[in-house]
Amino acid sequence: MSRFIPLSVPNLKGKELEYVTHAVEAEWISTGGPYVNDFELKVAEYVKVKGAVSCQNGTSGLHIALLVCGVTREDEVIVPTLTFIAAVNPVKYIGAEPIFMDCDDSLTMDANKLLEFCQNECSFIDRKLINNKTQKHIKVVLVVHVFGNMANMEKIMAIAEQYNLKVVEDATEAIGTYYTEGIYTGKFAGTIGSFGVYSFNGNKIITTGGGGMIVSNDEALLKEAKHLTTQAKSNELYYTHDEIGYNYRMTNLQAALGLAQLEQLESFIKIKEENYNLYKEKIQEIPGLSLLDFKSGIRSNYWFYALKCDRECSLSRDEIIQYLLSKNIQSRPIWGLISEQKPYLTSRTYKIEKAKHYLACIVNIPCSTNLAKEDALYVVECLRNI
Ligand SMILES: *Cc1c(COP(=O)(O)O)cnc(C)c1O
Repeated sequence: MSRFIPLSVPNLKGKELEYVTHAVEAEWISTGGPYVNDFELKVAEYVKVKGAVSCQNGTSGLHIALLVCGVTREDEVIVPTLTFIAAVNPVKYIGAEPIFMDCDDSLTMDANKLLEFCQNECSFIDRKLINNKTQKHIKVVLVVHVFGNMANMEKIMAIAEQYNLKVVEDATEAIGTYYTEGIYTGKFAGTIGSFGVYSFNGNKIITTGGGGMIVSNDEALLKEAKHLTTQAKSNELYYTHDEIGYNYRMTNLQAALGLAQLEQLESFIKIKEENYNLYKEKIQEIPGLSLLDFKSGIRSNYWFYALKCDRECSLSRDEIIQYLLSKNIQSRPIWGLISEQKPYLTSRTYKIEKAKHYLACIVNIPCSTNLAKEDALYVVECLRNI
């Protein structure tokens, strides 16, 4: 029996220990300290934006991004149904309401349905998009770059322009993904809308244990984001506060890890791409199974691999997961659709179709950056014997 092969685990073989040790020795372990600022600068430089604001995690980053975009409890926010629930919960933290959209074959938001929804279900009055059913103002569309793929930003940005919507990019899974073709050539996931948010949770491509980062090219928005993540202090010395702020800033310990991880990001992407190509080549020989493609015209970060079980496959999604587990291989289904989760059962949805289909037939297979070639080949061998 092979050793246990986990789905996605951290890889800490760079300077993590050195930097964390340095932070401890310097006794800078909390939200002050040079690594936090340095990590913000380095992330901003890497994704080529004006600035970055660190956070405790991706979820808190999304919360702040929505607040700074002006979302209030009176508003609605357009969100995807096929993603991790943390993308949508911040809408509810604010007391606003989500409207759930379907995905397309890339698993990211279906831009055609988004346009259809704006055209057919809403009115555009005084440059405000108003939902006809509820008369609520929709200010923001929140898109997710699922599994490291790029949402259709060309189309989504055009729709946002047409209907005066702000775009928040949940790029928590997609740091490193960028366009190689089209009008956004060279632009990274997370840097096209008003805000992008990255996550450094333990299962993401780079990790700080838990952590997140808000990025933007708008310095005024960044300033407000930093203000809100640091308790909205208007005077440091006298502790005056001009808004309800949050204690969301990253610690120096997290940032020390993050800097070491960021140094390895490009090499991680290279490993993930190689393993993806190895899986892809071998899996296409197995009847009924295939690996979903990342889009053309982008350089993906290849974060998660999506195995698709077609009808000809003799086993169901859950049988495949159970079978792999019996072979010591961890895999998992895609997330349960958010619009079908208990807190969202009464939320509005728009023509959810493809998301249901993909939920039923996708299995994520091991994709860690320390996945050895022989491990990947063992996974393929097991899939072949199903
Ligand atoms: C991981 C993730 C988040 C949340 O990030 P945390 O750092 O875990 O809070 C949000 N959205 C998506 C799509 C994610 O995958």
